[in-house]
Amino acid sequence: MLKVLFETGDDELARVFVAETADGHRIEFVDSSQPPAPRSEKWVLIVSTLVGCPVRCPICDAGGGYEGRLSGEEILEQVDFMVRRRYPDGRVPVPRFKIQFARMGDPAFNSGVLDALIALPRRLDAPGLMPSLSTVAPQSTSAWFDELLTVKKRLYGGGRFQMQFSLHTTDEASRRRLVPVKCWSFAQMADYGRRFYEPGDRKITLNFAAARGAPLEPWQLREHFDPERFIVKLTPINPTAAAVSSGLVSLLDPSDLPGAQAVVKGFQQAGFETILSFGELRENAIGSNCGMYVAGTREPTPRPRRTRAQV
Ligand code: SF4
Repeated sequence: MLKVLFETGDDELARVFVAETADGHRIEFVDSSQPPAPRSEKWVLIVSTLVGCPVRCPICDAGGGYEGRLSGEEILEQVDFMVRRRYPDGRVPVPRFKIQFARMGDPAFNSGVLDALIALPRRLDAPGLMPSLSTVAPQSTSAWFDELLTVKKRLYGGGRFQMQFSLHTTDEASRRRLVPVKCWSFAQMADYGRRFYEPGDRKITLNFAAARGAPLEPWQLREHFDPERFIVKLTPINPTAAAVSSGLVSLLDPSDLPGAQAVVKGFQQAGFETILSFGELRENAIGSNCGMYVAGTREPTPRPRRTRAQV
């Protein structure tokens, strides 16, 4: 069983929980809302799938101290904790109930994520359930993606699943610096999109946490990705410790809306539906959208390690 060690934030916007697994690994998860939608309309849980992350992207604090995968049950326990805290009978009456597998770790390294996805509809009475996966598409995980496709078709058709590839730049060579693991090419992601997307589904998101100096050429993206299946989401680089120490500066700045809108327009002109997502600045103070509390709470004594993900 998970043991929650501490929590921070508030119940209005976001609350971060740091917990210890049965074998002593520290993880964190988040209960949040997405204003202006009230929590009764839209509720977002963000869960960890790995203990740390082997990829070590320079924008992300999850990449330090990778200790292995969480089991499907350990992922579900995070969901259970947050659901039972608000709905003790396990019935979630929220029309848009999103579970993001996006706190610590790229979900594609972990078959436990697929186990959790299969179990969720049986485990919860939640008509509004919509899982959301964000991945850099590591190359070693193609079998996982094949299985995900089967699970999504079987359990989450008709727009009840959100899939996101995190690209960060439109230039594949530059991407290697921002995502330092061997990944699918854009052509492979586009091909997966063709197999994954069906009429009625949500379009697959191409996410860019855009850094100054990283190429963003919408027409280059269009060479691979079909706007009928893919949408673009632009986000700022959050002020994580990793981003600061890597010297990455966000291209998008909430205090320069015209500048951000010009970037949006470029993608729209290339035919992509484009979302600009600054989120709530107060989340930076809470740390619900960035940073990792676990990184600051790791004990100096090494814990037993699990099998490392193949990267
Ligand atoms: S951004 Fe994702 S893949 Fe990169 S280090 Fe963080 S959790 Fe891992």
